[in-house]
Amino acid sequence: MAAAPPHKPGTVARPRRRGPALPDAGADEPAPEGLPPGRFIRDAGQAPDSPGAYLLLITLPAPLRVVLPRRAEVTLPPGRLLYAGSARGPGGLRARLARHLRTEKTPHWHIDRVTLAGTVQGAWVFPGGDECALVAALAHLRVPLPGFGSTDCRGCVSHLLAWPVEDGEL
Ligand SMILES: [Zn+2]
Repeated sequence: MAAAPPHKPGTVARPRRRGPALPDAGADEPAPEGLPPGRFIRDAGQAPDSPGAYLLLITLPAPLRVVLPRRAEVTLPPGRLLYAGSARGPGGLRARLARHLRTEKTPHWHIDRVTLAGTVQGAWVFPGGDECALVAALAHLRVPLPGFGSTDCRGCVSHLLAWPVEDGEL
């Protein structure tokens, strides 16, 4: 009986990746113009467990009606949306993005209604960053719903932005 092929000392089995292999989880997603350099992650496990800011990329397949307190009802148009947020609690960016990427959850924040109606494609992460600075860097983008996620901000009109696709696809 032939001997099993010798194992090289020091090698360990690599965990199997789920889904397609990503050569570099940071470089393959084109970022909106003006966004500071940040790593794009599609899996919360790729995010650090430290505090920081993030920019979610959400695609909305159909119009979504949203009502904010003391504001008129607004219908978000289908397409690409960006949401700037921050994670300061336990588990940092990793824990927060795990929640955003989960497809089943009890809606707690307004953004949960958007992520449940659409698909979270991933997020750019900025350890130690500030979400309002991300909004300021993307000030050229359209605000579909003033007041969304920005009630505690001094300068932001909204933390939800519309990022149009040039060639008309989602
Ligand atoms: Zn803000």
